[in-house]
Amino acid sequence: MPVVIAIPRETAEGEQRVATVPEVVRNLTKAGHEVRIEHDAGGSSYYPDELYTAAGARVAASHPELFGGARIVLRVQPPTVADIDELPEGTIIIGFMNAATNLEAIARMRDRKITAFALELVPRITRAQSMDALSSQATAGGYAAVVVGADHCPKFLPMLTTAAGTIRPATALILGAGVAGLMAIATAKRLGAVVEAYDVRRAAGEQVRSLGAKFLELAINAEGQGGYARELTAEEKVQEQQMVSAAVARADIVITTAAIPGRKAPVLITKETVATMRPGAVIVDLAAETGGNCELTQVGKTIRDHGVTIIGPRNLPARVAFHSSLMYAKNLQSFLSLLVDKDGNVVKEFTDEILTASLLVHEGEVRHAPTRDLMGGMKP
Ligand code: NAD
Repeated sequence: MPVVIAIPRETAEGEQRVATVPEVVRNLTKAGHEVRIEHDAGGSSYYPDELYTAAGARVAASHPELFGGARIVLRVQPPTVADIDELPEGTIIIGFMNAATNLEAIARMRDRKITAFALELVPRITRAQSMDALSSQATAGGYAAVVVGADHCPKFLPMLTTAAGTIRPATALILGAGVAGLMAIATAKRLGAVVEAYDVRRAAGEQVRSLGAKFLELAINAEGQGGYARELTAEEKVQEQQMVSAAVARADIVITTAAIPGRKAPVLITKETVATMRPGAVIVDLAAETGGNCELTQVGKTIRDHGVTIIGPRNLPARVAFHSSLMYAKNLQSFLSLLVDKDGNVVKEFTDEILTASLLVHEGEVRHAPTRDLMGGMKP
C-alpha cells in the first residue's frame, strides 16, 4: 500500500509558500508514495496545478478528498485547531509548529492522537543539514531583507563612475551573522555595497571575513550552547550598544538578525541611535516578529523616524516563495526519508535521533518536554 501524502493550501495571512513542489512530487511518486495536493496550493508560489499533475500528484478539490486515507500531511505554517479537526486520528503532520505560541493546537493534536513533527526542533547536526528548514528559510529571509532594504534606499549600492561624476558605494551593516545574516552579507556584497557585520559569537568573524565583509570586533564572546548565542550581561550590553551605535550611524542600510533561542530578540538599536543615522538610511529588522532588534520597530509595518525608514517585516521567506518553497520541499523530502523505510512503510519506532528530537506530539502525549512544561500552565 503506498503511503498517502497530502499537502493542503496554506491559509495563514501573507503565506505564499507551499510545502511541496512538482520536482519533489516526482521523487516521492517515484519512491512509490501517493501524493495529493489541494487545488491551487502552489498558486501563490507560481507552481500551477498542471505541474503537480504532470509530476504524478492528484489534485484534490476538497478537504475530504485530500485527507481521506492520508497518512502524512505536509505543511509550512503550524496547523490551527480547525485544521486538526479535519484530520483522521493517527495522521502524521510535519511542518513548523511554533509550539510555544500555539499551545491550544498542540493540546488538540494530543487529544485527537495526531502525530506532529516540528521542523524547528530538527537538531543542527551535520547529518540533518539537508532537512534544516530553519536554515533554508533563514537563507531566503536574509536575501529578501537586503532586496527590501535596497528597494527603500534612496542611494545606489555599488560605486559608480559615470560621466555625471563618481558615486561612493553605500555602506550596509549586518547585525547578527548566523544563517540569515551571512546570506544578507553575501547579497549586499553582490549588490556592490561596502559591508560591515557584527555578531556576539567571535567564531562568526571568520565566516564574515571570508565573504569579503569587515567584522566589527568587540572584547565579548557570547558563544552559548549548540553554537547559538547566550544573553549578554548588563555590562556587555553597554559595550555592545556603544560599538553598534557608531557603526549604525555610518550605515545606509542596516539588516538586523540577532536572536537568542527561546528569548525575546535583543535590542541593538535604540531610538537615540536612530536619531543619529544618516537621512534616508533604512533598517530592515528581521527580528521584528520576536520583539525586534530596533527599539522603534513595529511588526508588519514600515515607519519613518528622523528620516530613517524602519521596516519590521513578517515572513520574509514568503517574498521569495518560489525558491523558499523549493528549498523547504527538499528539506521535507529528506525528512521523509527517515520516516519511511525502503519498503515504503512508515517506520514503527521513531528511534532515529532526528525523529526523536523533532517529535512534538505522539499517541496522545506531548513528547517535547519544554512544550509539556509550558502546557502545565494552560487553563484546563
Ligand atoms: P539565530 O537565528 O539563533 O541568531 C542569529 C544570530 O544572532 C546568531 O549568529 C547569534 O550569534 C546572533 N546574536 C545573538 N545575540 C546577538 C547580539 N546581542 N548581538 C549580535 N548578534 C547576536 O542563529 P542561526 O542563524 O539559527 O545560527 C545559529 C548557529 O547555528 C550558528 O553558529 C550557525 O552557524 C549554526 N548552524 C549550524 C548548522 C549545522 O551545523 N547543521 C546549521 C545551521 C546553523
